[in-house]
Amino acid sequence: VEYFTPKTIEEACQLLLRYKGEAKIIAGGTDLVVHMKRKKVLTKHIINIKDAVQNYVIYSEIEGLRIGARATIHSIESTPVIKEKFTLLYDAAAQLGSAQIRNRGTIAGNLCNASPSAEIAPPLIALGAMIRIIGADGERTIPIEDFFTGPGQTILKADEILAEIKVPNLPARSGGAYIKHSVRKAMDLAIVGVAAVITLDRDIIKDVKVVLGAVAPTPIRVKRAEEVLKGRRISDELLQRTGQTASQCCLPISDVRGSADYRRKMVKILVVRAIQQAIEQINMG
Ligand SMILES: Cc1cc2nc3c(=O)[nH]c(=O)nc-3n(C[C@H](O)[C@H](O)[C@H](O)COP(=O)(O)OP(=O)(O)OC[C@H]3O[C@@H](n4cnc5c(N)ncnc54)[C@H](O)[C@@H]3O)c2cc1C
Repeated sequence: VEYFTPKTIEEACQLLLRYKGEAKIIAGGTDLVVHMKRKKVLTKHIINIKDAVQNYVIYSEIEGLRIGARATIHSIESTPVIKEKFTLLYDAAAQLGSAQIRNRGTIAGNLCNASPSAEIAPPLIALGAMIRIIGADGERTIPIEDFFTGPGQTILKADEILAEIKVPNLPARSGGAYIKHSVRKAMDLAIVGVAAVITLDRDIIKDVKVVLGAVAPTPIRVKRAEEVLKGRRISDELLQRTGQTASQCCLPISDVRGSADYRRKMVKILVVRAIQQAIEQINMG
C-alpha cells in the first residue's frame, strides 16, 4: 500500500483526483482499518489527512459552532459549550464506542463512513448543520441532511474531502435530545437512534425536527411525523400519533441487533421520549 501524508487539503484533493476513486482517506482509522482487515475495502493508496485537515471546535454567539473535520469524538464530548448548548450532539458523542475509539475516531470519519447507525448524523441533521466540502475544483457548502445517499454512500465526489461542519445556534426556547438504544451501554452500535429538536412559542410547537438512525439505509428525517406536531399544543394523544407516524415512515431491516418489527416498535416509543426530553430541556432552561 502506498501511503501519503499531504501537507494541505488541496494537495490531498489532487492525490484523490490522481487515483480516481482508488485512493482512500484515513483520519482516525477506526472504521477504515476494520474494513480493510475484513477486505470490505481494498485500496492501494492511503492518504492520511492529519496535516491537511484541521482539528478545532470554535463557538461564537453569532455563527454558532464550527468543527474542523478532523476533530475527534472526544473533543466533541469534552467541549463545555457543546454540552451546554448542543446537548444532543454531546449525548451522541459521549455514547459512541469506547474511550479509545472516541480518542481516535473523528467527526468526519463517522459521517463519511456513512453507516446507517452512525451516531453523529441524527443530531447534526436535527440541528440543521451545514457541511463544507473541498474538492480539486473548488468548494461547496450543503445541508448535512443531503449528504447521505445509501449505506456507505455519500454525495462526496472521488476528489472531495469533508473539511468543516457548521452548526447554527438554536432559536430561543429550543431544546433537543438524542436517544441511543443498544443492547449494551458501551461499545455497541445503535439498534435505533432518535434525535429531536423542538422550538416552542409559548406552549405551541413552532418548529420541530425528528431524525432517526439505524432504521433505514441512511439517517432519515421523518417530516410526516414533524407535521403532526407543528403548530399544535403538546398533548399525550399528539405525542402518541407522532411516534406512530414515525414508526410508519422508517424502513428498518432485521439483523443481529434486532428485527425490523422490534425496531419499528422502539421508534414509536423513543420518538415520544426524545420529544418529551427536548421539551423538558426548554422548560428547565
Ligand atoms: C470497537 C468500535 C466501536 C465503535 N462504536 C461506534 C458507535 O458506537 N457508534 C458509531 O457511530 N460508530 C462506532 N464505531 C465506528 C467509528 O469509530 C466511528 O465511525 C468514527 O467516528 C470513525 O472516524 P475515523 O476518524 O476513525 O474514520 P476513518 O476510519 O479514518 O474513516 C472512515 C471513512 O471516512 C472517510 N473519511 C474520513 N475522514 C474524511 C474526510 N475528512 N473527508 C472525506 N472522507 C473521509 C475514510 O476514507 C473512510 O472511508 C466504532 C468502531 C469500532 C472499531
